[in-house]
Parts: sequence; structure tokens; C-alpha cells
Amino acid sequence: MSANLQQATTATTSLKLAGKVALVTGASRGIGAAIAQRLAQDGATVAITYASSPQRAEEVVAAIKAAGGNALAIKADSANTADVRSAVSHTVEAFGGLDILVNNAGALAAAPITDFSFADYERLIAVNVTAVFVAAQEAARHMKSGGRIINIGSVNSDYVPVAGLSVYALTKGAVASFTRGLARDLGARGITVNNVQPGPIDTEMNPAAGPFADTMRGYLATGKYGTGAQVASLVAYLASDDAANVTGAGLKVDGGFDA
Ligand code: NDP
Repeated sequence: MSANLQQATTATTSLKLAGKVALVTGASRGIGAAIAQRLAQDGATVAITYASSPQRAEEVVAAIKAAGGNALAIKADSANTADVRSAVSHTVEAFGGLDILVNNAGALAAAPITDFSFADYERLIAVNVTAVFVAAQEAARHMKSGGRIINIGSVNSDYVPVAGLSVYALTKGAVASFTRGLARDLGARGITVNNVQPGPIDTEMNPAAGPFADTMRGYLATGKYGTGAQVASLVAYLASDDAANVTGAGLKVDGGFDA
């Protein structure tokens, strides 16, 4: 083997997630896209889901491939349980297994409780809660020891500093509790389950230049919105062997929202 090839081979195999297969839901943009790209950069083969942005999902896949990784985009509406189940089985069939599930797809609706529509309530429950249960259950059936389930919750499961977020907080509270129970269910099998809780992160869901941003910044020790890449680096750590003893945890990446 030439020195260059040996160097390249060593570099690839020493990546922390080399040989792992990941599925990231809702990764056509925002935090999910950053997570997919970071996991691929660390050596994982990555499947991503999207609901309504095929072109943007393909751009994420193309960026991963251009950087030397392997990725696949799957259309799967998290509000549809059959779609969520088939996204897991599609990943397993395409890549021969599943080691890392990141439940990232999420929906936000804000309104005073007296005006909150039941349709929005049902949508938030479906995407933020039911899809997390379905994907985790399906993934757990395929995962071996060393598996990782990483849920993207929110600081709003613990702190709700403004009115209108009660239903969103309800869903993220469910994610926090489910994470703890699931860690108990899967711990003996060597599978960890954690809840990453971002504070305000600059995305289309919560733009740093949006109408509520100054209020949000007022709650932050840093005074600054975070980035998807900062959330992704915590997810990459949790996905790695380094985090084998971290499970059932809620880990905040929130600019000191709760400091
Ligand atoms: P964005 O709205 O910017 O992006 C959401 C992503 O999820 C898109 O790729 C979108 O794809 C996908 N998605 C939305 N609905 C569905 C669905 N029904 N089925 C499949 N995919 C879907 O959100 P963020 O990146 O900001 O948020 C990601 C996660 O982080 C969410 O769970 C959110 O609750 C959480 N979070 C975000 C915070 C923030 O400040 N941004 C703070 C705390 C938590 P498509 O366009 O194709 O539908």
C-alpha cells in the first residue's frame, strides 16, 4: 500500500462514526441538515427524511457526497406513521442496518390557549411526539449494542418564558420523559437514548432576525442565537463511542437560556 493510500485509509477508519449508519428525520434544512452533514463528516452513512422540500433534501445529500460521504434522501412525512416506519426500513434495506437515529423533525405553532386550533394541536402531537415513538420503536427493533437514539427536544420542555407555547412545550416535555423511559428500556441492550435540548437556534423555524428574536435574546446569557452546527456537534458526541455512558440525559445547548 502506498504511503498516501495508507494515510487516507487510516484517516477514514479513524473517523469516530466510520462504518455507522444514521437516520436523521427532517433534515432538508435547519438543525437536521447540520446534523446530517456533521454525522457524515464524522464517517457515518446518512439517510435523511423530508416532508415537502425534495430539492433542498437533495442538496443536503449532494453536499455530503461532494465531501466524500454517502447519503440518501427519503420522502417521509413525520405526521404519517406509515411513512415514519418505512423511512426506518428503507434505511436498513439501503445501508444494511441502523446504528444512529436522530429524531429531529419538529413542528411549531404558537397561540394563546383559547385560540389554539385543534388541528394544530394534533399536528404538533403527530410530528413532535407520535413520530418519535414510532421511529424509536422501529429503530430499536433493528439496532445492535452500541446503538444510539438521539431526540431533539427543546429547552421549552423545562422553561416557557413567553405565552403561546404551551402545546409546543407539552410535546417537548413528552420527548424529555419518553427519552428517560426509553433509556431504561434499551440500556441493557447497550443502546443509549438522550434528549438534546436546543435554545434559540437560527433557522427558518426561529430566525435570528425574526419578530420574537430580540425577546429571545434577552433570555440568553450569551445574548446570541446558536447555530445548527453547534447542536450537531453535541449530537455527534452522543453518537460516538465516547458517549457510551451517557444515557437518559437531557443536554442543553442553549446559550445559557436557563443559567
Ligand atoms: P426548521 O423548521 O428550520 O426545519 C425543519 C425540518 O424538519 C425541515 O427539514 C423540514 O423538512 C422537516 N420537517 C418539518 N415537518 C416535517 C414533517 N412533518 N415530516 C418530515 N419532516 C418535517 O426547524 P429547526 O431546524 O429549527 O428545528 C429542528 C428541531 O429542533 C425541531 O424538532 C425543533 O422543535 C427543535 N428546536 C428548534 C429550535 C430553534 O430555535 N430553531 C429550538 C429548540 C428546538 P420539509 O421542509 O421538507 O418539510
